[in-house]
Amino acid sequence: MSKTVPKLRFLLLFSLFLLLWVSASAQSRPTFTVFLDPGHGGKDPGNMHNGYVEKKITLAIALKVGELLAKEPGIKVHYSRTDDRSVDLYARGPMANRINADVFVSIHCDAHESSAYGAGTFVLGLHRADKNLAVAQRENAVIYNEENYQSKYAKFNSDLIALNAIQEENLDQSIRLAAYVQREMVATAKRRDRQVKQAGFVVLYETIMPSVLVETGFLSNANEGAFLNSTKGQDLVAKSMVNAILTYRDEIALNTINTVGPSTNAVYSVQLFASEKSIPVGDPRFRGLNPIWYEEKDGLKRYFYGEANSEESGALLRKKAIEKGFSDAFVVIKTR
Ligand SMILES: [Zn+2]
Repeated sequence: MSKTVPKLRFLLLFSLFLLLWVSASAQSRPTFTVFLDPGHGGKDPGNMHNGYVEKKITLAIALKVGELLAKEPGIKVHYSRTDDRSVDLYARGPMANRINADVFVSIHCDAHESSAYGAGTFVLGLHRADKNLAVAQRENAVIYNEENYQSKYAKFNSDLIALNAIQEENLDQSIRLAAYVQREMVATAKRRDRQVKQAGFVVLYETIMPSVLVETGFLSNANEGAFLNSTKGQDLVAKSMVNAILTYRDEIALNTINTVGPSTNAVYSVQLFASEKSIPVGDPRFRGLNPIWYEEKDGLKRYFYGEANSEESGALLRKKAIEKGFSDAFVVIKTR
C-alpha cells in the first residue's frame, strides 16, 4: 500500500504534465481550415470555349490545391465537391459556415467575346451599380436555371446598399487574401494581372469567413485556355493558390487583425478602393472628392472619403462617391 501511493502520485503528476503539454502545443498551432469550392459541376458545365470545360478545370485545380495543402501540418481541407456533381450555388457558403472554415476559395475560369486574358480575384461587393456586374452575372447565371430561384434568391436580388457587419468585418481579410492570390498568380503562374476587384457573387454573399473568388484565366483565349487545361498550367495555378493561402495563414497566426464593432463614437466613412500604391490626396484619381484619407496595413492602403456622424449622412457620402464614378464605394463604420 505504502509503495503504490508515490507511484500513483507520479502517475497523476505525469498525466497532468502531459495534459498541459498537449494543450499548450495545440494552442501554438490551431487547425486552419480551408474550404475549396470548384466552380460549377454536374448539370452546370460553366463556360465552354475552344473545347475546354470550366467545371472540369476548376475541379482539377481544386483537387491539386487540396492535395498540396493536406501535406502542410495544421491544415484541414474541405470541398464543396470532389467529383462532377451539381451543387446549389446557394448551398456552398453554408457548407463552409457549418464546418467553421477559416477561408473560402472559389475557383473559376472566365470567358469573354474579346481575346481578353489574365487572372483576377474577386471579393464581395455590392449588387447594384457594379462595374464588374457582367462577371458576377455570368457566375451567378446558374441560379436562373434552378427551380424556385425567385424566392430562393429574393434576398440577393434585392438592392443591397451596405454589406452586413460580418461581411464588412471580413472584407479587409478577404482583400488581403485576394492580394496574395493575385501576387502569386502573376509571379508563379505568370498570368496577366487583372487585379483584385469587388462584385456581387452569390457564392461569396453566403459565407461568414474571409472569402475570395479566383478567375484563374480565360478559356475563351486559345492560349490561356490551353494553359489552364494542361497539367502544367493547373499545377502552377494550384501552387499559386497554396502559396497565397499559406502566406495568409501565417500572417493571421502572427497578428490577430482587429475588427471594429459598433460604438457610440462611430464615424461613417466611404471606402473608395484599396491599392498597394501610394496615391497623394489631391490626385485626379479621387475625382475632386475631399477630404480623402487612408489606412495602411501590411502594404495595402484603403482609401476613404469623408466622415459623418450618422448612418444617413454616411449614405449621402456614398451617393456622392457613386455620382463621381466610384460605383463600388461602400460605407464603413470606424471608431474614434
Ligand atoms: Zn465560373
